[in-house]
Amino acid sequence: MGFLKIYCDSCGGTWDVYHRDIHSDNARKCPHCLAKIDGQTWNRQILPAFGEMLDTERELFKDHMNHAPLFCIDFVADGLYLNARNRDRTADTLADAVADCTTDEICQALQGIAAVRETMPKDSAPERMLSEIMTAVFKNADHERTVD
Ligand SMILES: [Zn+2]
Repeated sequence: MGFLKIYCDSCGGTWDVYHRDIHSDNARKCPHCLAKIDGQTWNRQILPAFGEMLDTERELFKDHMNHAPLFCIDFVADGLYLNARNRDRTADTLADAVADCTTDEICQALQGIAAVRETMPKDSAPERMLSEIMTAVFKNADHERTVD
């Protein structure tokens, strides 16, 4: 039987919610920072989606009992919205900061960021964010120089 793993962007923590706890008021509260998922969203979106996934899991298992191969499905959020609010601001701030730097200093900084990026799982949200920041900094630095 499946369970929910919830990632909290406020504190970076995660928590698991099992079927037996799904109706508890604490289930939608981050145990690390106490941030809460909206009650209406919890009841109208998450509960039905969880129920559907449990049903799906049971169906797949039933098929397997009738000699079909067994499949298990995880839904993995791709972090598309993660830090969306801060991302543009971070890129702008960095772009402003590099405007006064020499090309060598910028290259050095970009190499530093690239080295950190190498250590991250490919296509993870933080990896993509660094990639976008690098592009923004690079573009802006280039733009500043051609304007001058
Ligand atoms: Zn939290």
